[in-house]
Amino acid sequence: MKKPFLTLAQAREIIKTYPTPFHIYDERGIRENARALRAAFAWNPGFKEYFAVKATPTPGILKLLREEGCGVDCSSLTELMMAEKCGFDCGEIMFSSNETPAQEFALAAGLGAYINLDDLTHVEFLHKTLGKVPETVCCRFNPGGVFTLGESKEGFQVMDNPGQAKYGMTRPQLAQAFTRLKELGAKRFGIHAFLASNTISNEYYPALARLLFETAADVAKETGCRVAFINLSGGVGVPYRPEQSANDIAVIGEGVRRAYEEILVPAGMGDVAIFTELGRFMLAPFGHLVTTAIHEKHIYKEYIGVDACAANLMRPSMYGAYHHITVLGKENAPCDHVYDVVGSLCENSDKFAIDRALPKIDRGDVLVIHDTGAHGFSMGYNYNGKLRSAELLLREDGSVELMRRAETPEDYFATLVW
Ligand SMILES: *Cc1c(COP(=O)(O)O)cnc(C)c1O
Repeated sequence: MKKPFLTLAQAREIIKTYPTPFHIYDERGIRENARALRAAFAWNPGFKEYFAVKATPTPGILKLLREEGCGVDCSSLTELMMAEKCGFDCGEIMFSSNETPAQEFALAAGLGAYINLDDLTHVEFLHKTLGKVPETVCCRFNPGGVFTLGESKEGFQVMDNPGQAKYGMTRPQLAQAFTRLKELGAKRFGIHAFLASNTISNEYYPALARLLFETAADVAKETGCRVAFINLSGGVGVPYRPEQSANDIAVIGEGVRRAYEEILVPAGMGDVAIFTELGRFMLAPFGHLVTTAIHEKHIYKEYIGVDACAANLMRPSMYGAYHHITVLGKENAPCDHVYDVVGSLCENSDKFAIDRALPKIDRGDVLVIHDTGAHGFSMGYNYNGKLRSAELLLREDGSVELMRRAETPEDYFATLVW
């Protein structure tokens, strides 16, 4: 059973100051999980997690993760600017983008970020943009073909099969990029690949690691380049459904260690650092979208209308993604009603749940939509003139802190020319 990190009494107290809908994050859960990840990779002295900013681009969260030893993975100008403002320094920023404008490469280089090149042609583009190449540079590898390992249906929609995905370079291009970068002055190299999203399998990272370690050993031999780090990127998933079981990060870390010992150490590459770029795994379970039931409707189906909508959480309408729902105060009531829980957009896809068995919901009930800490608020948008909600942090001591205020109509109108 999925348990919210918020009680009805707590929620009612918070709503007095911050009306629903809002996103709230659990500091304790975030810290404990970040520590478990570090412990799982403690065998690798250079290990570092670069949190994928796009999952939760909120300074309050990024600073908290920095305290837990994480860096950030950015993919756009504003994400880089946010990383800088949060105090992330040289070596604490990865820049993994694609179809990258020159201006963004320039800012990334200026911040001392590790630049991850998505394509062979970006080598010359980067060189032209900066007038040189950084001493340490990373290339994104795409092995092509199909890769299936514990992927969820919607994970597949995010990434597709490697052979159909727009990201990364082919194996021959990877060697070409390394060789050219070395000619241009690069001294240390990274290799990155992202093959599957939201995997519910302890085998994904170890299998990816094996592939990347073998590729790194071959390419190093072929080009004479020194591989300094291997970036396993994101993709470790979370159990959105109550019947799914969570990945065990300790088992995952141990699986990667075994591959490291078997492949990199014998290749004389026992000093390679392991990087990760997890987003979902770091944050999804530690965020709730809190919303109030404001209407009920009985037509051909039973509907509960809530004050949040797909503009606050796009995943259900975009991917048909499952998000568990708890009615606060009715945690132990029998789920003897079947509802569509819907938002107010003029789009019939705006449904947080379809045919969901839930306790009887009354107007004014407060609902928690689970696992919204990553790719939740951040995918929000202003369709139908909907305003983005506030983001709150539930501190370990039980206090609540505002990390982002809710948008106002003035924000919505701010860019208009009348
Ligand atoms: C989105 C993204 C991530 C994070 O993915 P998760 O599935 O949230 O772990 C990491 N790296 C890159 C390059 C990404 O685009």
